[in-house]
Amino acid sequence: MPLNTICTNLPTAKTVLPAAVFGLMLGLVGCSDSSTTEGSAETEAAEAGTEQQAASDVSDNAAATTTGDDQTVTIYSSRNEQLIKPLLDRYTEQTGVKVELVTDKEGPLMARLQAEGQNTPADMLLTVDAGNLWQATQQGLLQPVSSSVLEANVPAKYRDPKGQWTGLSLRARTIFYDPSKVTADQLSTYEDLADPKWKGKLCLRTSKKVYNQSLVASMMEHLGEERTEEVIRGWVDNLATDVFSDDTSMLEAIAAGQCEVGIANSYYYGRLLDEKPDFPVEIFWANQGTTGTHVNVSGAGVVAGSDNPDGALKLIEWLSSDEAQGLYASSDKEFPVKEGIDESEMLRSWGEFKKDDINVQKFGELQTQAIQMMDKAGYK
Ligand code: FE
Repeated sequence: MPLNTICTNLPTAKTVLPAAVFGLMLGLVGCSDSSTTEGSAETEAAEAGTEQQAASDVSDNAAATTTGDDQTVTIYSSRNEQLIKPLLDRYTEQTGVKVELVTDKEGPLMARLQAEGQNTPADMLLTVDAGNLWQATQQGLLQPVSSSVLEANVPAKYRDPKGQWTGLSLRARTIFYDPSKVTADQLSTYEDLADPKWKGKLCLRTSKKVYNQSLVASMMEHLGEERTEEVIRGWVDNLATDVFSDDTSMLEAIAAGQCEVGIANSYYYGRLLDEKPDFPVEIFWANQGTTGTHVNVSGAGVVAGSDNPDGALKLIEWLSSDEAQGLYASSDKEFPVKEGIDESEMLRSWGEFKKDDINVQKFGELQTQAIQMMDKAGYK
């Protein structure tokens, strides 16, 4: 197996860390347990066995984890390792730069970055959702960079205005439906799913997930607080069943006839279609006549305490290149963030759609208000 990327469950100590911090890190760091990372609750069968593989990576590469030189970039990543590793392997093949990958949920990774401060072995944070990336900036975990490459490759609406992170791939959070009960012409907007005609027919993922917090934040920006709260209350009134812990279960509930419509991220649907080409659920691009479908990013930033910020930036720039952007679309069912990149056949088959033009930074700025509103409106 290629060992270009190295998973480690031990920190690369640049200096001697206080024992308490080191202990905390050992407790927090998981290696490649895909059940803890983005996309995880989806329990794709393909992910089975990753943990075992990663354990062997650690032992095979124990020496390499302590290099800390300019030829190594250490990434703290909340992204599903299976999705991101082929890209990183390709980068190592091309440049000779080693990439160490430490995988965990974004919360523990950010707590770890905060505890480690300037002693962190991390050079780069890779995670999903502008809401998470914004949180990282609020905690002072990232540093601003200026890059003409990123400015050329990534539209400004998918980058932090202060240069602390950039989007690297796009995901649409849109409407899905059961075509045996619903026709596309009955669907229109997220707001319309609050209409009593959908009573007992709507399925939603929990409001605790940042994806829904970002969606609601965008609605607050477009519709204002009062109207957004009305919509959330309508959604709650229309629920067919309790909220779901993940998008895949929600999509499967539509397929099973438990509900007729729901909201999910596009790539979860793509992965289900990969496994079951006849998966009996259809995608609908929301809000085409109004603000456009809600899109969010996965993205990355250079860690504030990095010893190798130049190496981290070069890798981030490479991830915005034509080649890497093409890989995101083909292996990951995500949309390229760069314009003019060929999408995979599956993505093309879903048709062109108008994307919401909002700067994704807003999702972070309005996150607290969105959480409070959902709570007030009874959206669990
Ligand atoms: Fe996800």
